[in-house]
Amino acid sequence: MPVAAEKIVGQDLMDIFQKVDNGERLTFEDGIRLYQTPNLTGVGFMANIVRERRHGAKTYFVRNQHINYTNICNKFCKFCSFYAKKGGPAPYEMDMAEVKRRLDWHKDIPITEVHMVGGINPRLKYNYYLDLVRLVATSRPEGVHVKAFTAVEIVQIAQIGKVSIEQALKDLMEAGLDSLPGGGIEILSDRVHRELFGKKLNGEEWKEVSRVAAKLGLPQYATMLYGHIETDEERVDHLVQIRELQDETKHFLTMTPLSFHPEATELEHIAQPTADTDLRNIAVSRLMLDNFDHIKSFWIMNTVPVTQMALWYGADDADGLVHEYEITYKDGEFGNKTQALTHDNMVRMIEEVGRVAVERDSFYNEIVRDDVAPVQSRTLLPLTVV
Ligand code: SF4
Repeated sequence: MPVAAEKIVGQDLMDIFQKVDNGERLTFEDGIRLYQTPNLTGVGFMANIVRERRHGAKTYFVRNQHINYTNICNKFCKFCSFYAKKGGPAPYEMDMAEVKRRLDWHKDIPITEVHMVGGINPRLKYNYYLDLVRLVATSRPEGVHVKAFTAVEIVQIAQIGKVSIEQALKDLMEAGLDSLPGGGIEILSDRVHRELFGKKLNGEEWKEVSRVAAKLGLPQYATMLYGHIETDEERVDHLVQIRELQDETKHFLTMTPLSFHPEATELEHIAQPTADTDLRNIAVSRLMLDNFDHIKSFWIMNTVPVTQMALWYGADDADGLVHEYEITYKDGEFGNKTQALTHDNMVRMIEEVGRVAVERDSFYNEIVRDDVAPVQSRTLLPLTVV
């Protein structure tokens, strides 16, 4: 038995360590223990073993742009600060000219992915969504990956078009849709659904959209919103349900645990997740989701410093340069909330903690550019172990 591992993991988690070491699947009870042990270092150590087994020191990022096409929404989720409301964000709805203007803003950056989500705006017609996808898909001569619409938007699009979910997805794919982002369910728990987002689709409906997407060969990303009213049991149950669905569909690319931002929501009284909570959710996701290749740390929500640490706690993906993300910020007029890392800052963020920055496309194919030295020839900074 490796003594060093026992020192870090502690006697009480050594049975889980043995499973991780042997590549065995962890149980629901293991997941609960990983959330409840005070030994975060031990949990991160185990998650890092899995991360390095799959990806070594590589840390992926993508050059992406976000477009949040409308903030008008009739679902009123209690955890959401994005939708337009009295005393909150002013309503907006982008027409095609506005979307084009935004795409043109970043024409000089070699963006490979456009990520689009929005509110459930009953005024938007079926063709609006098709036009939106078509516009983005054809916006760059070299092509761009269109990742758009959470499951709740897909249900809305199908309803407004009076077509089945399958037909809506087929039409969107024909227009240029390449993948579905995560989101739309937040956490697979009937209790949390009832209490926080009862007007949105429920867990079974969300899974149905996933199954149809998988049947059509449309890849999807998965998420878990944590740090609101969910319990450890509900977190683990979410991960187990996602793992079972992935066993069945095999179409999920990445899990992104999302750190809840209470400001300007109906849950403002809840304290924001700590670094312990952020890192633990990354690490437990890595350990429980043995059928997911990638775990993402979304720096926009958990901050750059926590993402740097997360690269040693199970995350192999630091998301992207992220132009114009509007979802978690309450202040400012529409249009002045641009949040982005430059390419150099992204690489620095990753390499400062001893990881290797690798630009990827939306399917994790590595992108090598003439103006950026290949990974093998870059001089790495000395390891800074967190
Ligand atoms: Fe609407 Fe989405 Fe916000 Fe819920 S989370 S209120 S569906 S924009």
